[in-house]
Amino acid sequence: MIKKLSSNLINQIAAGEVVDDPKSIIKELLENSIDANSKNIEIILHDGGLSKIIINDDGIGISKSDLSQAFERFATSKLENLKDLSNINTLGFRGEALPSIASISEITLKSKTSKDMGNEIKFSFGKKVSLKPSNIEEGTSIEIKNIFNNVPARKKFLKSENYEYRKILNLFKRFALCNYNISFKLINNGKVIYDLQKVNLKSRINSLFTSDIEKSLINISYKKDNYQVSGYIGNLSLVKTSRRNQFLYVNNRPINNLLINTSIYASYRSLISRGEYPFFVLFLSVHNSLLDINVHPKKEEVRFTNELQIQHIFKKSITTALKDISHTIPNYNNINFADELNIEELPFNSSLTKNDEILSMTDNKNFHDNIKNAEFRLMKIKDDNFVLEKNNIWQIHNKYIITEILSGLIIIDQHVAHERILYESSKRALEGDGMTSQKLLFPTIIGFDAEEYSYLLEIIYYLKKIGFDLREFGDNKVIIEGAPNNLPIGKEEETIQEIIGQYTKTSNANSAFIEYMASTYACKAAIKAGDKLTS
Ligand code: ADP
Ligand code: MG
Repeated sequence: MIKKLSSNLINQIAAGEVVDDPKSIIKELLENSIDANSKNIEIILHDGGLSKIIINDDGIGISKSDLSQAFERFATSKLENLKDLSNINTLGFRGEALPSIASISEITLKSKTSKDMGNEIKFSFGKKVSLKPSNIEEGTSIEIKNIFNNVPARKKFLKSENYEYRKILNLFKRFALCNYNISFKLINNGKVIYDLQKVNLKSRINSLFTSDIEKSLINISYKKDNYQVSGYIGNLSLVKTSRRNQFLYVNNRPINNLLINTSIYASYRSLISRGEYPFFVLFLSVHNSLLDINVHPKKEEVRFTNELQIQHIFKKSITTALKDISHTIPNYNNINFADELNIEELPFNSSLTKNDEILSMTDNKNFHDNIKNAEFRLMKIKDDNFVLEKNNIWQIHNKYIITEILSGLIIIDQHVAHERILYESSKRALEGDGMTSQKLLFPTIIGFDAEEYSYLLEIIYYLKKIGFDLREFGDNKVIIEGAPNNLPIGKEEETIQEIIGQYTKTSNANSAFIEYMASTYACKAAIKAGDKLTS
């Protein structure tokens, strides 16, 4: 027998598409508060959002007659007819969030408009419990608890408190960045995590990330035809090993878009390698008629009418900005040193320059891999007559060690060779008792953003094992009193950041992560191309 589902059941099923974790609930509520023209928004979490979420705003509020209506499915004040659907200027428009959230939790919503007295409405797992007057002074206040208690299957999918909390921190950043004209406060278990005043974009970026980020930002402002790109991108010192610090907005709505990401990476092309991700906070403005946001209930994806144009405008605006600053990029020498070699002048030019292998050496990271393979090949073939005459050993260009062997000569890349030795020894140490640490003469204090810090706390054991002597030191800060042997002074923060970046990808301290730690240490600690060596 075919029966129509009850509206409560429909809401519960549909809730799966809109809300599947505390983060997505907060996303919907934030969108509502922003759509309501709030100037101050406060998010209060208990246990990282797992046990309770409260959102207070000072927006336009909901009148008594609209209160029950707001919890009906597909009930919205933001859309009236089909024509509106192609010109959406609000974050919400589908009228699904409140009924979805109400169907899987206990929710109390208090609200007051400027005209009426305040009211309070309560729902428990989809059923209306009460509607009565409230003494709320302005705006809307929503409290949600017992999330998914009536959907055990979904509750089971929630991960650890720390994990869910971090997703919220990331979402908070995404919204706080683009709404810099709104004050935001985020509190978890009574502790103020963020207290952000209304400012401009640059200051907002500053207060959401570590404080010295400003000097690494490059302004983007580009306009062509119907499109405008604005915001900031980071220089190479902000490049990370994870995608976490990439924020993209279309008409001020946070979105994910592979096409745009690809164009952005392409603009950085010669500056970063595979597995490295630039920092960006970029806004695309385009007339609503040139895009479709109604792709998925979560409204995080868009389709563009003219994708080629979008690609072009991002590439153009970023390439231009990067060209202007290439001289301010730090530590550039190392990465690109293959460019300095004039292949034409090398003695083996005739046979090898035509070889693709040596050409591909000129793109950054591949270079090291190629050298590694090349070196390995040589060792293997010549193993038997590998006689090293100790006195006949030279360093050339402060980059290579050259010496003779019975059947010819051997060239060693000093950095790669040392890196390899350090890698092997640090990997052994990490699998055993850990690496030795050297005391720092001047302990350094490193600050993190809240999200990074929560990752850091999870891997502090491993950082100690690799030789960092560090402990918590106030809000989102650690003090480093010792560092791994051989690590050059000043490289501590960079090394820790890269290790955290790797950890954020999987949140799993498995053997691949241990290997990554060993190789990061080895790369930082190894002598560099350009270092003069004694014989
Ligand atoms: P949508 O945002 O797609 O319209 P929702 O289910 O999220 O759907 O919200 C339903 C309606 O409730 C909104 O259209 C809006 O009129 C009202 N509303 C929800 N939250 C707020 C808020 N914080 N302030 C003012 N009105 C709100
Ligand atoms: Mg909404």
